[in-house]
Amino acid sequence: MSRVVYVNGEYLAEEDAKVSVFDRGFLFADGIYEVTTVFDGKLVDFNSHIIRLKRSLDEIDMKPACSNEELLNIHRQLVNKNNLDEGFVYLQVTRGVADRDFLYPDDKTPTTLVVFTQKKAIIKQPLIERGAKIITVEDLRWGRRDVKTIQLLFSSMAKMQAKSEGVDDAWFVSDGMINEGTSNNAFILTQDNVIVTRHLSNEILHGITRVAVLKCAKALNLTVEERPFTIEEAQKAKEAFVSSSTLCICPVIEIDGVTIGDGKPGAVSQQIREAYLIEAHKSAV
Ligand code: PLP
Repeated sequence: MSRVVYVNGEYLAEEDAKVSVFDRGFLFADGIYEVTTVFDGKLVDFNSHIIRLKRSLDEIDMKPACSNEELLNIHRQLVNKNNLDEGFVYLQVTRGVADRDFLYPDDKTPTTLVVFTQKKAIIKQPLIERGAKIITVEDLRWGRRDVKTIQLLFSSMAKMQAKSEGVDDAWFVSDGMINEGTSNNAFILTQDNVIVTRHLSNEILHGITRVAVLKCAKALNLTVEERPFTIEEAQKAKEAFVSSSTLCICPVIEIDGVTIGDGKPGAVSQQIREAYLIEAHKSAV
C-alpha cells in the first residue's frame, strides 16, 4: 500500500506527489531537514526538532514554511493516515522553485515543504544488539555542520567507504580530533568513568538525542565533559557509543580495527539507552 505524503498543503498518495525540476533543493541542495522519531504513534522530542529547524532556517536566511502548530498537525495527520506505530517523520523545506541562479530568489518565491513517514524498527535493531564497528575518516564536509542542510553527499560517501571496508559507519575527524559520526553524535566513556563528547560549535550537528543523552548521563551520576577527544583516547576508552534520533543510543565496539572494552556493547551505554527510551516514551506527544 502506498504512503500518504504531504507536499505544499496537500496530502497525496506518494506516487502522485511531485516537486519541480527547478526546485532549489534539487539544484543547489538549498534546504533544511528534520527527522523525528515515532514511538507508539507519538512524536519524540518534537519541540526540540522545531526549535532546531527554525535555527537552521534562520542561518540560511529562509522563512518558516508554516507555523509550529501547522507542522505538528501535519506530522500527526501523516502518522495517523499511514498508521505509523514506530519509525520516523521526515520533513524537508527548500527555498522553492526559481530559475537557476546562485543568488537567492526574492521573498515571494514560495518554499517547498515536503513531509513523509517511514516505518522502521527503532527499538530493536540488530546493530544495537551487536554494537557498531566504525572507521575514522577525514572530515571533508562544509564548515557549517550545525546547520541541518540536505547536502549529505560526503556523509553518504563516508558511509559507503565504511561499508566497503566491512564495517558499519564512520566518524569524522579534523586535526586528529573526533567531530561526530556520519549521521550521529559520538561519545566515549573513559577508564575513569567520564562521558566525553565534542562540545557544541559549527563543527558538529547539535543533536537532539545528544542533549537527552547528557541529561540521562547526569541523572545516572556520571561526570560529563564536552570537549574534543582524539582517536587514540577513543580507542583506549572503556566504552563508546553514538546517538541519533533513529538509532537512539548505539554502542560502538571497534574503532579503526581496535576493539573497545571486551568487544561487546558496554554496560553504561546500555544503561543510558534504557534511561533514554523510558524518557522518550514518556515525553512523546
Ligand atoms: N550528527 C549528524 C551529522 C547527523 O546527521 C545527525 C542526525 O541526522 C546527528 C548528529 C544526530 O542528531 P539527532 O540526535 O538530532 O538525530
